[in-house]
Amino acid sequence: MIQITKITKKYDKKEVLHSISLDIPAGKRFVLFGPSGAGKSTLLKLIAGLESPTSGTIIKESNKIAMVFQNDLLFDHLTTFDNIAYGLDHRQYTKEEITKKVKMIAARTRTASYLDKKAAYLSGGERQRVALARALVSNPEILLLDEAFSHLNPALKKELLIDLIDFQKSRNMTLISVSHDFQEAQFLGEILAALDQGNLVQIDSPFDIFEHPQSIDVANSLDLIG
Ligand code: ATP
Ligand code: MG
Repeated sequence: MIQITKITKKYDKKEVLHSISLDIPAGKRFVLFGPSGAGKSTLLKLIAGLESPTSGTIIKESNKIAMVFQNDLLFDHLTTFDNIAYGLDHRQYTKEEITKKVKMIAARTRTASYLDKKAAYLSGGERQRVALARALVSNPEILLLDEAFSHLNPALKKELLIDLIDFQKSRNMTLISVSHDFQEAQFLGEILAALDQGNLVQIDSPFDIFEHPQSIDVANSLDLIG
């Protein structure tokens, strides 16, 4: 369980998150959606511990956290293998253990066929798979995704989401994902939260959000028209 209590965040004098309280149960897939500038990435960074709240508290059941960003941040001059291995603490494992872990996660993320290829020569979809593999190789209990797959085409994205859900279930991992895209949120999430202008406006199942959006802004973000 991740327990967020009355979190606010200010940048300079501007408050971008207003007293957010939220409990995220362990082992669930939770998706935060809402328009650009709503504060989604800020909230995710606070959960990751990359930034501190101005006030309020966040209690996490585990500190085994990994994060994947929209920009994959791979090392172009390194191979897929070395990029994935970078996600491991090399002081903790022998070379053989590292190889075993990388190969295991490569099989689960379907990156095995290009383990020896440099990241510079991979396609966008392949790169996002490698970024995901690098996050998963450390066996995190909480995985945070910030629009990690948003620039993939729908077919590639769906393939990746299916593999991710499969993995999440097998490990009972807590997944927190951020998305603009309600269809993606609906496909991936068991619990959805709509964030708008720094306020949490609704937390519900995908079905209930779709059937009963609590505000015009939530309804608009469902992209019901067109
Ligand atoms: P997007 O969908 O475009 O990624 P978002 O919901 O992730 O948007 P955030 O990046 O969390 O939005 O930004 C929320 C607000 O906080 C915005 O008004 C943004 O300009 C502001 N903001 C974010 N990071 C900083 C920062 N480091 N310094 C100052 N302002 C910031
Ligand atoms: Mg963002």
